[in-house]
Amino acid sequence: MISRGFGAGEDLAGARAACENGGANATGEKIMDERQFYDEKEETKQIPLVCPHCRQEGTFPVRWMVRTKKAQPPRGGNEEDRAKFAKARSYMVRIDNLVACRNIKCRKRFDLTGQTVFLI
Ligand SMILES: [Zn+2]
Repeated sequence: MISRGFGAGEDLAGARAACENGGANATGEKIMDERQFYDEKEETKQIPLVCPHCRQEGTFPVRWMVRTKKAQPPRGGNEEDRAKFAKARSYMVRIDNLVACRNIKCRKRFDLTGQTVFLI
């Protein structure tokens, strides 16, 4: 790593953590992040797929980001934020776009097709 010994990586991580802890240092206009409406968690689902190269069937682990709408709107929001929250729906977004075939004679990567976002 190039940054090793300079502490650059640590500084970056520190700044990011401070940001996630709730922008107490925010001044002026604030924009409510849509992510505050949701609890996020990553989930891996086993999806049955057929390799387009060798036609072998298999189940592949595919990662999804699941955003579950919180029970209450975030505190400190204005009317617009509450309206947005009311309309918000839980959903999941696919993280992985590629899977690798498990057939040792093939081993090609192929694109996942279909929807990348599902309302849940
Ligand atoms: Zn294959």
